[in-house]
Amino acid sequence: MHELSIMQSIFEIVMENAAKHRLKKVEKVHVVVGELSGVEPEALKFAFSFFARDSVAQDAEFSITTVGVSGRCRACGEKLAGITNLRCKCEVKPDYEMLTGKELYVDTITGESELEEEKSV
Ligand SMILES: [Zn+2]
Repeated sequence: MHELSIMQSIFEIVMENAAKHRLKKVEKVHVVVGELSGVEPEALKFAFSFFARDSVAQDAEFSITTVGVSGRCRACGEKLAGITNLRCKCEVKPDYEMLTGKELYVDTITGESELEEEKSV
């Protein structure tokens, strides 16, 4: 399950930020996942609970926003959306610039800091 190795990197980011902002408790972790990133959201959630166990993030709410696929035709600039619609009407060969759909990043980490009441990073 490659979500485990992906989550390992995500979790490192969460822990780095928790340490940097001296979070005694991570409350929310929000991740953005593109439709073409090859990540299964349910598997990612499972991987999060696996890594979060016995850490400051063990009670954190883990949420995912899935971003659909979109692109732009390099020939005419037409906007294209959806995995199966990336071939523009004007061209025989698909030639497009990918705009969204491959993202995979930690959007926000929210927690309770030793320094302040609430900290968003
Ligand atoms: Zn076109």
